[in-house]
Amino acid sequence: MDEQEFNNLAKDSPFVESPVMPNMLEGDTPIQFRCHRQVKCWNACCSNIDIPLTPYDILRLKNRLNLSSAEFLQQYTYPYELDKDGLPGVKFQPVEGGTACQFMVEEGCSVYEDRPAACRYYPVALLSMRRSDEYTDRTAYALVQEKHCLGHQEPRKLTIEEYRQEQGVNDYDEKSRGWRQLILKKKSAGPAVGKPPQISNQLFFMTSYDLDRFRAFVMSPSFNDSYIVPVETMAEILADDEKLMEFGFNFLKQSLFNEEFLKEQDGAFEKRRARLNERAQSIIAEMQKDRQKMEDDKYSPDPKPGDCGCGGEE
Ligand code: SF4
Ligand code: SF4
Repeated sequence: MDEQEFNNLAKDSPFVESPVMPNMLEGDTPIQFRCHRQVKCWNACCSNIDIPLTPYDILRLKNRLNLSSAEFLQQYTYPYELDKDGLPGVKFQPVEGGTACQFMVEEGCSVYEDRPAACRYYPVALLSMRRSDEYTDRTAYALVQEKHCLGHQEPRKLTIEEYRQEQGVNDYDEKSRGWRQLILKKKSAGPAVGKPPQISNQLFFMTSYDLDRFRAFVMSPSFNDSYIVPVETMAEILADDEKLMEFGFNFLKQSLFNEEFLKEQDGAFEKRRARLNERAQSIIAEMQKDRQKMEDDKYSPDPKPGDCGCGGEE
């Protein structure tokens, strides 16, 4: 949502049903809030979840659980669309047949040290905005006040910035900045970029969320036939998930917005065009085959009794 949209919403909507306060707050805004084991609503927020995940959230959790990114995505997430053009996002998949988080236990969060950014921020919401005439994004916050959450009645005041420090979101925001900028850029570019082809969305999904598959892609001959990756960079990104993730964000900027990041191999463009031509020829050949089959079926003599194997009329 950009600033204009947010202001319009705040102006036009009384926010009667929304738990989000219709104000953009700064980091030094004081809030009254405390969450602890003795609150009567303990675990209420984790019992009914709607939690979008960032690439860094997934990286932390899959490593904690010792799973591959594909295994994590399959067991703990479901896909949704981040924008009207179908840019793919993923959210936490609740427990089977319920609405609670799969990581919720009686004592609270079983992955607390690696819980996602959205869980850390709650009840603050992070709003990233970028005007189309600005290169960098701006950050503001909103306060989410849901009836079930009694933490707002606890007698503790602190600023949003102090709350962010306490919850350890700085690291999460820093590691996700490149990805958030990509999304903002895509949204603020709007129709100028247009609806991306399906292959771009697939590339975005793999690079953002399925890091282990992206690693295999970067190591593949077709990637290395197309791009020049310095040996030191390759060694670094293959050994370090966070470096690979950052490399992926830059690679996406190149793929989606033509911002040069990697140099192409000599003749890569021609090779890619040749591959596309080859693929197009094979699609045309398949279509011709299908059409021929339809023609053959259309003009083949009427089936005679018995052709179907039923023995015909008695
Ligand atoms: S990850 Fe932890 S904090 Fe977040 S919804 Fe699940 S149980 Fe709650
Ligand atoms: S106080 Fe709010 S955040 Fe804490 S457990 Fe209750 S509902 Fe969740």
